[in-house]
Amino acid sequence: MAGSPSLPTLFLAHGSPMLALDGEAWGEAVSVLGRRLPPLRGILVCSAHWEASGPFLLSSAEKPGVMHDFGGFPETLYTLDYPAPGSPALAVEAAGLLHAAGLEVGLDAQRPLDHGAWVPLRYLAPKADIPVVQLSLPRPRTPELLMAAGRALAPLRQSGVLILGSGGVVHNLRRLDWQDASGPQPWALAFQDWVGERLAAQDSAALADWRKAPGAAESVPTSEHLDPLFVALGAAQAAPEPVFEGWQLGSLSLASYLFA
Ligand code: ZN
Repeated sequence: MAGSPSLPTLFLAHGSPMLALDGEAWGEAVSVLGRRLPPLRGILVCSAHWEASGPFLLSSAEKPGVMHDFGGFPETLYTLDYPAPGSPALAVEAAGLLHAAGLEVGLDAQRPLDHGAWVPLRYLAPKADIPVVQLSLPRPRTPELLMAAGRALAPLRQSGVLILGSGGVVHNLRRLDWQDASGPQPWALAFQDWVGERLAAQDSAALADWRKAPGAAESVPTSEHLDPLFVALGAAQAAPEPVFEGWQLGSLSLASYLFA
């Protein structure tokens, strides 16, 4: 596959797990995007829902299966599956790239796919026939570390591997607005707009300093949903093409981007 065209990288918001049952306009946009992609050798997903102390970890199970890592949702949601194969070989290859860049890395042969991975993948790659490997978010971490990991993994884009960050630019479960689900709260919009502008300007230094942005404290109470953006950005370093813009319950951004 050497010499193949370079794949874009993606950041997909995954919002509420209920999107797995009804993806609405977001699911349609992600499905359309999936149909535009060339044949893939694998998908490497950095999800908000895998944080682990120590080094970066790569999931290396042959058959990862899925976790239903959420609580209090309708029973149907717990029956959903995404039976994609894993790829121990791709996990080892990605680990080698991270190691060569001086980053600490290990493998986890037990890790199933979390919902940050399988919910968007049910729309992006609905046949579940492309091998999926997950990359953890290490603790502690910085945006710079995550961008360095993305840069290290970038060669995979030339060999048919899609690098996907899954999270949400604005994600505050304690500030959900059940009364008005139609639009964002003002602080959420301010932060989302700031991120969109900095992405368009390819100003990764400002993005890494996101805590200084308007609305940051409310929009990003903890960084795990924003952080996968830095892996996707580090792997592509390009201005984004919007995949989708939208909101759930006022404080969950569904803004999703493609970096080509
Ligand atoms: Zn999530």
